[in-house]
Amino acid sequence: MKFNKKLESISTYEAGKPIELVVREFGIEPQDIVKLASNENPNGCSPKVQKAVVDIVANMALYPDDSMMQLKEGLSKRFDVSDKNIIIGSGSDQVIEFVMHAKADENSKILINSVTFAMYEIYAKHVGAEIIRTDSLEHDLDAFYALYKSQNPDIIFLCTPNNPTGDAIDAAAMIEFLEKIDSDTLVVVDGAYMEYAAYKDDAKAVTPKELVERFDNVIYLGTFSKAYGLGGMRVGYGISSAPIIKELYKLRPPFNITTLSLEAASVALEDEQFVEESLKLNFEEMERYKSFANKQNIAIIESYTNFVTLSLEEPKNSTAIADALLKQGMIVRDLSGYGMNAIRVTVGKPEQNSRFFELIEALL
Ligand SMILES: *Cc1c(COP(=O)(O)O)cnc(C)c1O
Repeated sequence: MKFNKKLESISTYEAGKPIELVVREFGIEPQDIVKLASNENPNGCSPKVQKAVVDIVANMALYPDDSMMQLKEGLSKRFDVSDKNIIIGSGSDQVIEFVMHAKADENSKILINSVTFAMYEIYAKHVGAEIIRTDSLEHDLDAFYALYKSQNPDIIFLCTPNNPTGDAIDAAAMIEFLEKIDSDTLVVVDGAYMEYAAYKDDAKAVTPKELVERFDNVIYLGTFSKAYGLGGMRVGYGISSAPIIKELYKLRPPFNITTLSLEAASVALEDEQFVEESLKLNFEEMERYKSFANKQNIAIIESYTNFVTLSLEEPKNSTAIADALLKQGMIVRDLSGYGMNAIRVTVGKPEQNSRFFELIEALL
C-alpha cells in the first residue's frame, strides 16, 4: 500500500520503556523495576487529585465540557492571562502538533537547538518542513539569531529548560532575542520544566503573561506531565495572543481532553504546596547526582529540571550501559539517538536514586 510520502522519513518516537514491557521482556517483577526515563514526578500527584477523580468516575457517559471552562479559569488565574489566550491539548505535545500544522508546510523551515525535544522534528516532518539546527549543545541565542537571519524560518523552538540537556535560557536574554524577531515568525517557548527552573533560579523564570503582553508572535507551552505528576492524564496547554489561539483552535479535535483529565488538572493546579514540595525534594536529591558524577569524574550539565544528563567518555558506551541497567530493572534514557554518548536519568525518590548509583557504579 502506498502511504503519504512524508511518512517515509519519520522514525517513530521512542518513549521511555514502560514498566509493563520490562516485566514481559525480562521477567522482572513490577515492584523491582525503577523507571527513571520519562521525567515523571516520583512523588506522584497531589492526593487531592486522586480523591477528586474518584468522585467523578461515576459520571462518564456524557462527553467532557468542551469549553474546558474550569481548567481555563484555573490557568487564567494562575498566569494572569485571559481565557482567550489559552488552548488546552492532550499533552503539550498536541499543542506542538497544532502549531506545526497551523504555521508550516513543505516550504517551511523550522529552527531548533542542535539537541532538543524530539517531537519538534517529528511534527515538522508531518508537514514536510525542513529542520535547521544550531551547532551548540546548549541554547546559544546568538547562533539562533544568525540562523534566523540567514534562513528565515517560519517557526523557532526555544526549549527552556531544554530536554534532554537540562540547561535553561536566561529570561532577560530571551526577551531581548524575541524583540529582534519579526512578527511573522512564530516563536514557541516550551516550558515543560519551567516550574523547576523558576524554583531554582529567578533569572530563568519566563512568565507567559510577559510573553503575551509583549509579543503577538510567541506561544508559551506548559504541561501537567512533569512537576504536577499527571503524565498519565495527558494535559498540556499553550498560552499566546488571541489571534494565534484562534487559528490553533481550528485544528483541535472536539473533546480532546477527557473529563477525568480536566478534573485532575484543575485540582492539581490548586495544590501549589504539593508541587512546591516536589520541587524542593527534586533539587535536594539532585545534589546526590552531582556528587556522584564528581566522584566518578563524569561530566554533568547544570540542570534546571527533574533530570540529569551524564556524559560518558569512550570506551564507556551509553547504549551498552542503558541496556545493562535495563536488564536489572533500571530504566533510564540512552541519548545515543540524539548523537550523544550520554544517559539521561530522572531524579527519583531517595531509594530509587540509591539503587541507580549502586547499579551504575558496578558498570562504570
Ligand atoms: C515532556 C515534554 C513535553 C510534553 O509533554 P506532554 O506530556 O505531551 O505534555 C513537551 N516538551 C518537552 C521538552 C518535554 O520534555
